[in-house]
Parts: sequence; C-alpha cells; structure tokens
Amino acid sequence: MDFLTIGSHLSSAKGYEAMGKNAVHMKANTFAFFTRNPRGRKAKEIQAQDVEKYKEIAKEHKFGKIVAHAPYTLNACAAKEDLREFAVEIMTDDLQRMEYLPGNYYNFHPGNHVGQGAEAGIRKIAQVLNQVLKPDWNTMVLLETMSGKGTEIGRNFEELREIMDQVKYREKIGICLDTCHIWDGGYDIVHDLEGVVQEFDSVIGLEHLKAIHLNDSKNPLGSHKDRHEKIGKGQIGLEALSAVTRHPALKHLPFILETPNNENGWAEEIRILREMYS
Ligand code: FE
Ligand code: FE
Ligand code: ZN
Repeated sequence: MDFLTIGSHLSSAKGYEAMGKNAVHMKANTFAFFTRNPRGRKAKEIQAQDVEKYKEIAKEHKFGKIVAHAPYTLNACAAKEDLREFAVEIMTDDLQRMEYLPGNYYNFHPGNHVGQGAEAGIRKIAQVLNQVLKPDWNTMVLLETMSGKGTEIGRNFEELREIMDQVKYREKIGICLDTCHIWDGGYDIVHDLEGVVQEFDSVIGLEHLKAIHLNDSKNPLGSHKDRHEKIGKGQIGLEALSAVTRHPALKHLPFILETPNNENGWAEEIRILREMYS
C-alpha cells in the first residue's frame, strides 16, 4: 500500500463519528485524540452507536490505525505511590474503553523521575505497565520518545529499550517516535536520518516502531525544549520532515501532526506532505 497515512490531533469532545468526519474533511486517513481531558479528568461515556458510525467512515475512507493519547499529566514514575496508582487507574480505564475499537494504538509519555534518577524511574514505569497490561487486550501501548526536558524519561532510545525489557507482555508495547522530541533530544534527522533510523533499529528494533508524531521544532538540535512548530516553519524544515514520511523503513506508519495549527493549517500540511510523498 503506497498511500501516506496521515492526520492530526483532533478534539474528542464530539465523539468518534465527528472525529472521523473531521479527518475526512482534511483528507486525513488517521488521527489522534486525548482519551479524556488532558489533565486527566473523567472520561466521556462511550456510545456504541457513535463508534459504529465511525467504523463505517474509517472503512469507506481506508483509515489506518488511530493513535489515542493518554493525558500528559500522568506520571507513571512519580515518587508518590498514590500518583502511580492514579496512572494505573486511568490507563486501565482508557484501555478498557479502547476495546470498542480493537487493534489501534494508545500512546503515553513515560514519565518524569523528579530527582529519583532514571534507573528508578524506568523501573517504576515498567511496574505500572505490568499492572495495566492484560494479555487479551487488543490495543498496543506506545511509549513516546521525549525531548529530555526536566527529568523526563525517554530522552534517548536506550531508556525506552530498558522500559520494554522490564515489561512482561512485551508484544503489547511499541514506540511512538516524535520528530520534534528526538530532534530536541539530539538526534539529527536533518543531516543524518539514515543514521538515526539505524540507531533506533540497533537499540530498540524497527519492528517496535508503530507511529510517528510529525512535528517541526521551534528550537535547535539538542535543545531539550519540546516546543512544536508548524511543518516547515521550524528548525527541522519541510524537506527533512517529508523525508521522514518517505523513508523506506517508516513510510508505512501512521503519521500524526501535533503542530500548532487549525483545521485549515493541518489540511494544508497534509496536502503538501501527500504531494511530496507520491
Ligand atoms: Fe505526546
Ligand atoms: Fe508527541
Ligand atoms: Zn511535544
């Protein structure tokens, strides 16, 4: 299948059918959304009928896998036990609800070790995942590559690999690579995309890479800032980001735009990236 799977992050406020229509309107064939208020409040009740209507849209327009996003305030390696328990609770509930749409992805930010050190953080994240993951669930959980601001875990491929190594149901875990984050983390995808892809393959294994967050960055290589920019308006640039979508090891993945845009802006980014892809 030589067709770019691309979409943007959408608001889930009006449900799945609305997101599907929204995506089609932008000529997208995937999308991302927060499973609940990003600050981790109560999730909206899922309407089975809404999900069915979405499935029809997705089938008709040949959608790829969609990429749900956990609230970014969860901290699976918080020092306080009740915060880690909260992460278990929310992720379990989200994954239960994802069973309405089996076979998709759920990505999350591994966490902030807040001074405990990376090793302790990694151990705690794996423990949370081992409490959350159930062998019969049909959603793959993706660890996101992070920019390394503050005490973020996932600042390099090695840290993500270490988490995966401690997870029991390893086949339930994959990676979501964020281009802004790895650029800010010091991986030079502008001058050496091939080298970065090879490094990912040797540290984690390309077979575990399941989705890409396609973002430009406001800041230079290695800045550890995490400020997304519109495609082509930042320090990575359109050429390099298009090259990511066309790389033989990546071109089949779902690409999600998390650029600071409105619907027209995303539609335009999708149009340009599709044009350069074909
Ligand atoms: Fe994210
Ligand atoms: Fe991201
Ligand atoms: Zn980010």
